[in-house]
Amino acid sequence: QSKANNHKHCVYFIKKFADELLYEMNLSNQIHDAILQQQFSLVYQPKVNSTTGDLVGVESLLRWETGAGHSISPAVFIPIAEKNGFIIELGNWVIKSVLKQIRLWLDNDIPVSRVSINVSAIQLRQPKFINYLFQQMEHYQVPGRFLEVELTEGVLMGNIEETIPLLKQIRNQGILVSIDDFGTGYSSLSYLPLLPVDQLKIDRAFISDLHNNLDNQKIVQTIVSLANNFNLSVIAEGVETAQELIATNHCGITDIQGYYYSRPLSVSDLESGWLSSARCAIAC
Ligand code: C2E
Ligand code: MG
Ligand code: MG
Ligand code: MG
Repeated sequence: QSKANNHKHCVYFIKKFADELLYEMNLSNQIHDAILQQQFSLVYQPKVNSTTGDLVGVESLLRWETGAGHSISPAVFIPIAEKNGFIIELGNWVIKSVLKQIRLWLDNDIPVSRVSINVSAIQLRQPKFINYLFQQMEHYQVPGRFLEVELTEGVLMGNIEETIPLLKQIRNQGILVSIDDFGTGYSSLSYLPLLPVDQLKIDRAFISDLHNNLDNQKIVQTIVSLANNFNLSVIAEGVETAQELIATNHCGITDIQGYYYSRPLSVSDLESGWLSSARCAIAC
């Protein structure tokens, strides 16, 4: 390669880097304002027992509608909010909103099931996290059996000595603890028996096209027996088609979350659909 070419490449990368930096700086300013302007909302995706058709839970998922009417994916803004620290404020907003919503459902005799909250590493490690969660549960009078926290492998492995007592405190309240996106992190399996967790959520990467992918079938079956051996429950994420559902069931998984059953729903859509009939397994 010529020097001139190298130089061109270099300029290109610097420009790309600067663009990304500016994009993130902009977004992080916007995230701060967006909290104040109430541009965040939550949608809820059903988790279904595919044998009975019962709703076994819902996952709360953040949505951001900017002032200009654009929606920005949490896959984009969560990592930025984690980097600049806004995840704490945003995460607390999620906790409060979910608990407020559960209280509303309980007051209106709506058969609410377990609601899960995604918790990121920085949020969990922040000393006030547990206090805030428990204080809000007390304030809204929501028992732990209505709650679940989803943590990724990275979160759990980060600082295991610190994480274990936190998880114990969370589970002592009756809150379910799940490992999200299981199988995609770089965690050592030897940690699994040490972790006080209840459930593995198998990542969509293994579920997509499962009926055509013999390797993934073997992996999923292996995760299921791993879970059985450690007394953990299993749920599959991202089941989109009937074929994927059948293949997932074949691997020994009953609990399913994915577009096959439902996309994430607004509160009113959830109430007029999944929460309208006495389908809920827990509260009724
Ligand atoms: P996640 O926790 O693994 O959530 C599952 C993601 O998969 C959601 O994307 C959901 O809409 C999507 N999904 C569910 N079923 C299907 C399916 O059948 N097909 C496909 N293609 N996708 C499906 P979403 O809502 O865009 O969220 C992306 C990620 O952002 C989440 O992954 C989670 O890591 C993060 N996130 C979302 N809300 C929060 C939050 O309140 N706090 C934190 N810390 N992270 C959040
Ligand atoms: Mg999740
Ligand atoms: Mg996941
Ligand atoms: Mg994910």
